[in-house]
Amino acid sequence: MTSSSALVLFSGGQDSTVCLAWALERYEAVETIGFTYGQRHIVEIEQRAVVRSKLATLNEAGRRLGPDTVLDLAALKSVSDTALTRETEITFAATGLPTTFVPARNLLFLTYAAALAYRRGIGTLVGGMCETDFSGYPDCRNDTVQALAHALSLGLDKPMSVETPLMFIDKAATWELASSLGGQKLIDLIIEDTHTCYLGDRSHRHPWGYGCGQCPACELRAKGWTAWQARKI
Ligand code: ZN
Repeated sequence: MTSSSALVLFSGGQDSTVCLAWALERYEAVETIGFTYGQRHIVEIEQRAVVRSKLATLNEAGRRLGPDTVLDLAALKSVSDTALTRETEITFAATGLPTTFVPARNLLFLTYAAALAYRRGIGTLVGGMCETDFSGYPDCRNDTVQALAHALSLGLDKPMSVETPLMFIDKAATWELASSLGGQKLIDLIIEDTHTCYLGDRSHRHPWGYGCGQCPACELRAKGWTAWQARKI
């Protein structure tokens, strides 16, 4: 395993873009992995290619960006909204999570990423999990992620660390981190090219980027942007 290489879980959203920029500053060789598993994510998959190519030329660190792998996890659809009964759908909707949310999804992603990292001689995974804003996502909590890192290290019989630079910061601080990593050029890239909206909306442009402006992901992104703007004053 090379300590100076990392595999970044990269969706093309704001959080994973900041994580990728973070990894490019720290590791000599950086690869990315993404997952397809539903209609909504076609927009994300399109945008992630755009974001990757722009990050590669954003600054000196961009030259460290290596190969990308996209895995088809079509089986996830079998446990997404179609798997909800009417009773659980109502309960689920009350959590504020989209009905397509797959419980423990991040555990599956990290496990697939670890399998690829192992084969490519990489001992560090980087993910945008954050427990500050995502209290509804128990698989994003630090305890969960680090317990999985431990299980993966045991199961692979090689150290596999999981770095989560956003774990304890809020969305406003994520914008600030982006600014410190790549200045206005990275902020502009995030606004113009990253995709976060659950509905796949890229027809409405807001100060913080594209999206429906209504779904939980848009609300969170907008709230963070507003808070960051207020902190800067
Ligand atoms: Zn939205």
